[in-house]
Amino acid sequence: MIKFFPILLAVIYGLVMYRFSVWRTSRELDERSTELVDPKLKRLTDKMASALDLDRVKVHIYEIDPVNGLAAPDGRIFITRGFYRKYQNGEVSAEELASVIAHELGHVALGHSRRRMIDFSGQNALRTALAMILSRFIPGVGVWIANMLTTLLAARLSRGDEYEADAYAAALLTKAGIGTDPQKMLFNKLEELTQARSGAMPAWLMSHPKTPERIAAIEKLEQRWLEA
Ligand SMILES: [Zn+2]
Repeated sequence: MIKFFPILLAVIYGLVMYRFSVWRTSRELDERSTELVDPKLKRLTDKMASALDLDRVKVHIYEIDPVNGLAAPDGRIFITRGFYRKYQNGEVSAEELASVIAHELGHVALGHSRRRMIDFSGQNALRTALAMILSRFIPGVGVWIANMLTTLLAARLSRGDEYEADAYAAALLTKAGIGTDPQKMLFNKLEELTQARSGAMPAWLMSHPKTPERIAAIEKLEQRWLEA
């Protein structure tokens, strides 16, 4: 029994860290966000809401400068102040911003936002737990293997999530009559916009796959929809 104690301890540590990360993130978001009120955007989110049979799609502004959208583990959707500013000064259109909201809705609908929290905020905990377990069997190399496994797992999960959320958004935007052009257009702009990053991003916000690959994936979907 005593042999398994360290493993149990590592698992408990992992769980506690995960709960703490969820709590800390949602508190940070509570303190630094307000509901988005924008008539032009609301017309678009209302179209998406009716495509989804919802009363409305609620969106929040997160008061940080880096350009990003995010889906919180509790299912709330956020656009950063920096992103909203790009829209206000005309660098990003309302339809393009709506495509970000559609993408984040995809993360929520597909259950990614909870898992992403484990990937990023809980990554260290998972690494520690794995290292403790593996080190018992393969001393020395165990830590190294744990690091590699955790990184690989997170990268695999997050990349897959992005493509799934893109596909969800493409379908939703099509159904809502907005179309996928703004989505594809934004991917091209996104590279430029995210280059001028300022301030620290929450660690669980991850970088997206390469732009040409994202656009190609959506065009492949559209081709399939045309043939169907
Ligand atoms: Zn995403």
